[in-house]
Amino acid sequence: MIKVAVNGYGTIGKRVADAVSAQPDMEIVGVSKTKLGSEAFVAKKRNYPLYLADISKKEIFEVAGIPIAGCVEDMIQIADIVVDATPGGVGKGNKPLYEKYGRKVIWEGGEDHEVAGFSFNASCNYAEAVDRQHARVVSCNTTGLCRIIHLIDAIFGVKKARATIVRRGGDPGDIKRGPIDAIVLNPVTIPSHHGPDVQSILPHINIVTSAMIVPTTLMHIHFLNMELERPATKEQVIELIKSHSRLGLIEKSTGITSTAQLKEYTSDLLRPRGDLWENGIFKDSISVLGGIDLYLFQAIHQEADVVVETVDCIRAMTGSAKSAAESIAITNKAIGLIAIR
Ligand code: NAD
Repeated sequence: MIKVAVNGYGTIGKRVADAVSAQPDMEIVGVSKTKLGSEAFVAKKRNYPLYLADISKKEIFEVAGIPIAGCVEDMIQIADIVVDATPGGVGKGNKPLYEKYGRKVIWEGGEDHEVAGFSFNASCNYAEAVDRQHARVVSCNTTGLCRIIHLIDAIFGVKKARATIVRRGGDPGDIKRGPIDAIVLNPVTIPSHHGPDVQSILPHINIVTSAMIVPTTLMHIHFLNMELERPATKEQVIELIKSHSRLGLIEKSTGITSTAQLKEYTSDLLRPRGDLWENGIFKDSISVLGGIDLYLFQAIHQEADVVVETVDCIRAMTGSAKSAAESIAITNKAIGLIAIR
């Protein structure tokens, strides 16, 4: 069993912990918190040993009935690999601690590529992650872009890609984030960081992205255009998308035309937390104009898509699956990911 520690048991960390626990070849040896809150009670219910970034707070947790197994440094020592899911920018400060004990580390997309020196997406570059010491699972938006662009590029060639990203303002539990009543250009300048981030995995792709933040928490929406090297039909693109286990297709007959209805759908499907781990591509939006100009809308659930990639990254870095296909199949089966069609 691969011993996994999750440093930072928040939006992403708690999902990674549950997905890891569901895998037949992995176990959670610890998760960490900074402050007492509801997630600490959930960790206790799930029997995840809880460690603290600041051990001087031990008593506060114990008075609330939550046993503390030790400090983060103790947790690092008993793990084969650490998933650092601390808030963006915090993770790089933990690097010396991981290096002190020679631990393999996965950072999430809030850290810069340079922290790990290697950025990961299971569909695109699994083989390059094998036996690595450090990796970064790219952000939710970059993950969603990489999955579809890589697939289309492999068959039809992508001459250039252009994406407009409508970003959620915060996660559902983030009561302090906004905007409440604005559309915020984020950034005003073009390109947004997402294009260069895609190139950290697919360096040859000519891509420009722009982004804005809107007052919603559920998901992001991408409007994606790819100019193809070789002609394609809409039907060929749909068949190709169906061949990818992490690209979902939203049919017109579901009546779903919004992130709200999509979230309701995944909740009704009894997905944990209503998570959409796959890209939610609106089938009717897929258009190929003049045979080479491909357009589509896709929904990206910010809290979920990177979770399955993180599990595959663990398998790649520990050399415990023969191929991306094998790891992806194990991960998907363990959590019940059958892409929506
Ligand atoms: P979060 O704020 O929800 O959770 C972070 C957790 O880390 C909290 O539980 C906090 O208590 C803990 N923490 C803070 N400082 C710590 C420290 N020094 N040591 C140990 N734990 C500490 O953050 P998140 O949204 O889960 O983001 C985690 C990472 O995942 C970031 O890199 C982020 O950019 C990335 N990411 C987030 C999303 C998203 O939409 N939430 C999507 C994709 C990637």
